[in-house]
Amino acid sequence: MFRCQMCSKVAGAGIKAMRVTVVSRPKEYRGTVEEFPRRRFGRFRETRKPRDRGGKGHEIVKELMVCASCGAAHREKQAAIEAAAVAAAEAAEAVAEATESDAEAPALVDE
Ligand SMILES: [Zn+2]
Repeated sequence: MFRCQMCSKVAGAGIKAMRVTVVSRPKEYRGTVEEFPRRRFGRFRETRKPRDRGGKGHEIVKELMVCASCGAAHREKQAAIEAAAVAAAEAAEAVAEATESDAEAPALVDE
């Protein structure tokens, strides 16, 4: 039993909540730069520590617990936004390609 954070209706017992990401941001982890421990010989040889290589991705800033219908609606909206963004990126790329030949010439006449 929970209250949907989008429509603020109470969902009945036994209904599972959906978690919806509302805000996310790009995140990069540097990882550790520590040296490997010196190798020791003998019975209690130290094993190599796994090195943390860090990584890159997106982290969640805000998440909502919503009911199934709100979750589905949000997913549809998100898909539409994503499709629009992809279309816009493709259009921008086409424009950039068209103007690329014109943009190269004035760069040489800068001085
Ligand atoms: Zn809801």
